[in-house]
Amino acid sequence: MIEKIYHEYLEHKNEENRKNRYDGNESWYHASGAGFCSRKLYYESVEQAVPSNPPNEKSSRIMRVGSIIHEDIQNALIYYNNINNNNINIEPNKINIAVQSVKKFDTEGEIKLPEFKVRGFYDIFMRDCSASNTDSINRLYDLKTSSTWGFRQKFNKKNAIPLENRNHFLQVATYGLALKKKYGNLDSMSIIYYNKDNSDIREQIIPNVYLDKARKYWHSINAEHARGLPVFQLGTSPAYSWSCGYCQFKDHCNPPKF
Ligand code: SF4
Repeated sequence: MIEKIYHEYLEHKNEENRKNRYDGNESWYHASGAGFCSRKLYYESVEQAVPSNPPNEKSSRIMRVGSIIHEDIQNALIYYNNINNNNINIEPNKINIAVQSVKKFDTEGEIKLPEFKVRGFYDIFMRDCSASNTDSINRLYDLKTSSTWGFRQKFNKKNAIPLENRNHFLQVATYGLALKKKYGNLDSMSIIYYNKDNSDIREQIIPNVYLDKARKYWHSINAEHARGLPVFQLGTSPAYSWSCGYCQFKDHCNPPKF
């Protein structure tokens, strides 16, 4: 019984989130879909098909854990913002960390790239308005939760540098493109990986070259979709052979075995 009640609650939360974020913007591509499957993006934003395979109960719970961790870290940054603002107001004559280097965190901000019809929501954007600089230092962060298995794959000691996740990088670089356009400079992009099994946290820097890769990616998606539904092609539709097993349009799409 508790499990059913919880699932109904999660369905309610998902619907609330969908209405808040996507109602009235159905024709825009989701930045979070970057790199996975061109055909899926077509179903979602061009055809605007109803998902034939929505997440099952267990998948909904897994995603909820990720959302809760996101909310908690974002709340910590809002708390940090408030504490610093209070320091400035309460002790105006004292030199303190907050005055020397004011880091301001924006969370859950919306970005739009109208030239590609792409829209999304970044997790964390930090502007460091240090007294010694005229321009702020701007850093973009995305939060990703992971299992121990995924964490080990990425941060394996045998790898000189953590393995790249192209989709994650393209997604964050899409936010980066919009923020760079808005603020003039973007000094770094990172992903903060959070291991759900043991609460380890590691940061991975995204190379700046991904800004250009993201631009080219969305350009190619627009060009491909102007010709209609993309044909099946492993590498783009879908990007990986395992993608179809997790796809919310699987029955609608009816893919062959890759
Ligand atoms: S089922 Fe596979 S090929 Fe079809 S849209 Fe989904 S991920 Fe793409």
